[in-house]
Amino acid sequence: MNAFSLAGQTALVTGANTGIGQAIAVAMAQAGAQVIAAGRRDCDETLALIGDKGRGMRLDFADPMAARDVFAAERIDILVNNAGIIRRADAVDFTESDWDDVIDVNLKALFFTCQAFARAALPRGQGKIVNIASLLSFQGGIRVPSYTASKHGVAGLTRLMANEWAARGLNVNAIAPGYIETNNTEALRADPARSGAILDRIPAGRWGRPEDIGQTAVFLAAPASDYVNGAVINVDGGWLAR
Ligand code: NAP
Repeated sequence: MNAFSLAGQTALVTGANTGIGQAIAVAMAQAGAQVIAAGRRDCDETLALIGDKGRGMRLDFADPMAARDVFAAERIDILVNNAGIIRRADAVDFTESDWDDVIDVNLKALFFTCQAFARAALPRGQGKIVNIASLLSFQGGIRVPSYTASKHGVAGLTRLMANEWAARGLNVNAIAPGYIETNNTEALRADPARSGAILDRIPAGRWGRPEDIGQTAVFLAAPASDYVNGAVINVDGGWLAR
């Protein structure tokens, strides 16, 4: 047996049209999984990269309960909760809508998607959940209060769900990506002062690439990680080691 193979497994990746979600979908297909690339818009680019191992699904977490019926309808072995948004403003000016929008997508939708998955997977006694957390699951950040609150929540919920479901065959873990070149960090990379300060602090000496996260997600979805429960693994070029 290849402990890193996903052959015979079906994985659903949320927010799979771009960035980290796209890289995870591609890595999982390369590891042998059938991949459902879920997005609030078509995932054509991702599906073109995956070929006949992929298909699309519309899931828009503007309704945080959007995935409620997905896992009862068909067998899905691996769930990757990747969809996420960020809003930036000084804490003193932060609006209620920037709070609610981020918490709904990053935290409420993640929890209820995990719940829907678990209701289908627990009776089978097998399943893997990979949540996408952040360095701001550990640190405070600046000008992103709802994002920081949501990602601290993702780390906590990952541990809570692992505590409840580990003995029942369901692994729940998270990845905390460092600074990765995606749409999410476009504003940071466009600001030479912030961008330079970030780069100076990364021991690996470069920003992360979406592919850096893809392989860690494969590990957390594969038999190789069967005894990993409730972990939040930072893939950050050493950022948190500083
Ligand atoms: P991204 O390129 O902006 O991707 C975010 C994904 O989430 C996109 O597919 C986006 O779809 C989707 N999404 C947003 N709102 C949605 C909704 N209402 N319903 C369904 N999907 C929705 O950024 P990314 O960096 O790849 O982010 C992926 C995850 O990694 C996020 O959870 C983010 O917080 C986390 N993360 C990123 C970094 C980083 O440095 N980039 C660091 C730590 C954590 P659209 O394309 O349609 O907007």
